[in-house]
Amino acid sequence: MTLCTSGDNYSNHTIAVSAYDWFNRFSAYEFKQKEIEVHYCDLTDDNVKGWCEQVDDDSWLVHVDKDLDNEEHYRTLFHEFTHVVQDIFGVKDNEVRETQAYQIEETMYSDMCAT
Ligand SMILES: [Zn+2]
Repeated sequence: MTLCTSGDNYSNHTIAVSAYDWFNRFSAYEFKQKEIEVHYCDLTDDNVKGWCEQVDDDSWLVHVDKDLDNEEHYRTLFHEFTHVVQDIFGVKDNEVRETQAYQIEETMYSDMCAT
């Protein structure tokens, strides 16, 4: 198990697990080896749905707003997981990171809905 969750609104846990499982199917071996904690909290004041930070070589902490609807929730998780992959492979350019994260979020979400 390389995913754990914490924070408010624990019912979000199921979505985090299913988003992670879906993302994992299409991701590199390196991603599967890493540890990710998804932490739910109130991000209203930060005016973002989520953000992520690298804790050490093998673990990341992803913050996700606790009150997202299902679609936003999945999209945010796919988006932040993409940033984790980018950290692993050393993608540093912010514009490239965001463009890629939005594309992958879109593709993953529509593929998932199609199944
Ligand atoms: Zn982003």
